[in-house]
Amino acid sequence: MKELHNKSLHLTFFAKLKSAGELIQFGVLQQTTHTTRKVYLMKPIVIPLSMSQIYLIPCQDGYLQVDSGYERDYSIYRRNIEKAGIAINKVKYLFLTHHHDDHAGFLNDLVRDTNLIVIAHKEAKELLKIGKNDKTRGGGYVNRIVKLIADIKMRLDPQWTLTFPPFELRERDILIIGDDNGILRQWGVNGKVLYTPGHCVDHIALVLDGGEVFCGDAAASFPLWAGIKYCTIFMTDMDMAYQSWQKMLDAGARMIYPAHGKPFGADKLRQNIGKIQTKNLIRFF
Ligand SMILES: [Zn+2]
Repeated sequence: MKELHNKSLHLTFFAKLKSAGELIQFGVLQQTTHTTRKVYLMKPIVIPLSMSQIYLIPCQDGYLQVDSGYERDYSIYRRNIEKAGIAINKVKYLFLTHHHDDHAGFLNDLVRDTNLIVIAHKEAKELLKIGKNDKTRGGGYVNRIVKLIADIKMRLDPQWTLTFPPFELRERDILIIGDDNGILRQWGVNGKVLYTPGHCVDHIALVLDGGEVFCGDAAASFPLWAGIKYCTIFMTDMDMAYQSWQKMLDAGARMIYPAHGKPFGADKLRQNIGKIQTKNLIRFF
């Protein structure tokens, strides 16, 4: 397995990259609210699953996919990717934002049925082997309403165990040590990887040069009505989480594509930084 150190990374562009012009054909034209300048946002392909959605971003020779889903969502995934007109073998890369059950659940099925390369943070390596959401670093639900809903859901859904089939990263897969501004470009994706802990320790996000952010569970817009304030329902360290939000903003975030909920403007992160504190998280393990 290759580990990437950002300082030692000097990747050559041996691949024929898509030019900015080519990328725009996948995009939608948007008018910013502050200026009359026309800006382009790449519009990802969205594959809905039972409790989340995954995104496909065009890359050299196919697609880079952000995350998988629950183990039991694999059939939904196959159905919906087919509906989107994409052959499964066109998924060339799997960007794993973190190890949780609803993101890593069908990794084994994917590597069995495709030739894809997985990219993940180095902290994910051992956590994926264990097959359980990490409970060794604390954390909890963001408020009491969420705790109440989660308790009900856990009682009604015996499959919701915060576990997933263990997954072993292979020699061909790639581990990220910190931020990385090279590997995605090598694959024809104009963007960078940011290390974004706070939801959990192995979390990474993908930021395209146009400001589109695929944030995994670093932020969320569902269920906003439960007072999550753009956090995912479970968080580990709020100081770290808000530092990660700031990092995404500093990297030029304009539109956030979360795993849970609809896309939202990056200004929502700016407006909600600091609203939830680690000491107020509701522990449940
Ligand atoms: Zn998660």
